[in-house]
Amino acid sequence: MATILIATRNRHKIAEIRQILPADIPCLSQADFPGAPSITEDADSFVGNARKKAQGLAAWLAGRADLWPPDVGADGAPFYVLADDSGLEVDALGGAPGVHSARFAALDASAANAPDAANNAKLLRLLEGVAAEQRTARFRCALALTRLRPPPAPGDPVMFDGCCEGRIAFAPAGAGGFGYDPLFIPEGWTRSLAELGESIKNTLSHRARALASLRHFLLDGGS
Ligand code: IMP
Repeated sequence: MATILIATRNRHKIAEIRQILPADIPCLSQADFPGAPSITEDADSFVGNARKKAQGLAAWLAGRADLWPPDVGADGAPFYVLADDSGLEVDALGGAPGVHSARFAALDASAANAPDAANNAKLLRLLEGVAAEQRTARFRCALALTRLRPPPAPGDPVMFDGCCEGRIAFAPAGAGGFGYDPLFIPEGWTRSLAELGESIKNTLSHRARALASLRHFLLDGGS
């Protein structure tokens, strides 16, 4: 049975990914490897950042097999590192915040991520006066799956992507999810992702769509 190491410490993402992947696939996360480096997300695309995170963590782990759980890869089954990069593109802002979604409110001051509430407040401020029909936006997700064992073959990492169209509300609503969920109303709905809750979010989100492709890949035997 393949094992997947999810290259994030974001517990919301871990839960979402865990819920969508086949239940019998053992998953670890970066939280299981406290010494793992944080990979700088400085690529100019979601694909570039996801690839960089997966390959960076795999390179760090490759020389540290003593840290792997004892049964991982023991029967020749693959051991993968999975990284995601995701964010919000708002049409009225020329695609911003895009790859800067996590640190949108901190962009001018520092390289660190900003609290979700600050990012949401900045988004609302920039969209002041923008009419409902011009508040179109989408979440995008890129997934990179790289193999640690057996060693990667040509074509590695395998990439998957997903997109969720919607629009930005005039005020935050709902307590579920994370990030921009309280402001994002998916196409075909009148409530925010934070109001819709995780079971609906996991049927339509950008991450759910990318993970559905990954799921097919794994169920087809991966490689
Ligand atoms: P990263 O993928 O961890 O680099 O962060 C992407 C950022 O985009 C997050 O910190 C959130 O602000 C935003 N984001 C990504 N996916 C979602 C989502 O499903 N809901 C709300 N915000 C998201």
